[in-house]
Amino acid sequence: MKRTGDLKLIQELNRSIVLDTIRRYGPISRSEIAKKNELSPTTVTSAVQDLIRERLVNENGTGLSSGGRKPILLQFSPDNHYLIGVSISYSKITIADMNLEAKINQKNVYLTNGYTNEHLIEYLLELLHGFLTERKDNRICVGISIITQGIVDAYQGIIHHNPKLQLNNVYLKNIVENRLELPTWLDNDTNAYVLAEKNFGLYQEYKNMVYITIGDGLGAGIIVNDSLARGVKGGSGEFGHTTININGKPCECGNKGCLENYVSWPSIHERLITAIKNGKNTLLTDLSNGKNESILPEHFTQAINAGDELANEVLNEVSFYLAAGLVNLVHLFNPDIIILGGEITNNNKLLFNRLSHLVEDRSLKTLYKDVNIKIASLGEEFEMIGAASVLLQDKFQFKLTHDEIRLNRST
Ligand SMILES: [Zn+2]
Repeated sequence: MKRTGDLKLIQELNRSIVLDTIRRYGPISRSEIAKKNELSPTTVTSAVQDLIRERLVNENGTGLSSGGRKPILLQFSPDNHYLIGVSISYSKITIADMNLEAKINQKNVYLTNGYTNEHLIEYLLELLHGFLTERKDNRICVGISIITQGIVDAYQGIIHHNPKLQLNNVYLKNIVENRLELPTWLDNDTNAYVLAEKNFGLYQEYKNMVYITIGDGLGAGIIVNDSLARGVKGGSGEFGHTTININGKPCECGNKGCLENYVSWPSIHERLITAIKNGKNTLLTDLSNGKNESILPEHFTQAINAGDELANEVLNEVSFYLAAGLVNLVHLFNPDIIILGGEITNNNKLLFNRLSHLVEDRSLKTLYKDVNIKIASLGEEFEMIGAASVLLQDKFQFKLTHDEIRLNRST
């Protein structure tokens, strides 16, 4: 039995090598694939036969002959299959139909309407069922890839803890697979973003990468030596709940002085509103038409860039606290790159300047000199590219290049 198992494993491995070669170098002939990978012509022919049958690859034209018959060329067909990318956040569920190059064919955004716990799961299943029913073409669905905040065990497909959505020990992968009869992947959102940056983004050559997302909360995805650091339950990277002030503000996690209470968008928003209520004049009042609750992250960066005093004061505070957190990360992980994502990082050069100076001042010089602090590179569809990358990397071992992503985005 073992021998059969080994043989099957080798066949699958060869098949993914052949598929990846066609995807990267196609149109390409069978003999070139064999040469590039030092595989036998028979192995390549049999793998290609499988891939054509599965409509992952097609024959397209002929190449130059080096004597006899002109060789038939093979190319990757990313559009005969699709995957369903899903992102669940506190306020919305996003569902997208994507091809095998992480290109979005259709994307729908649904408000969570305050649903939590089992009501939210039931709502998600209904939405997915409706979305799948609309796919009436002859493409093949390879699976569903779900990302969400909180502590997520990707191996077992369990959401252990997501306090805002009240999801505790939810076996979401099994639930979705049983209901919709499609293979399902599940991962933490920030882990998905760092995977997407590592496999699809601009900074692929970095081996020790920390991705920080600043939004409703504050999270980190950490890659050490080219692999994701997950921890026992998938709880690695709870950066927002690291303590930066032992006598600080109480946090919903039960601790005090967690970084998230100083650096996330809700905490920034609250500080801006308090200052405005205390009579501070600011450009933000005009930008939000006098409605404090309508101040958005992009208004904040706009005001910073226009030299607004309040926005710059708050930016200084945020930079100060975030830098303290980043110095801790530098000393714990010795990364070669720290990537920052989230709306307040867009068009916010001053934030990056301040952080670089503060982190340089406070880190061990030997460790700081290797660190690059950069902005996330995957554009506004990073959530869906993140969801797709979880599935594509696991099922096909795809590593798309940045050029492919850029091409996808411009089409
Ligand atoms: Zn906390």
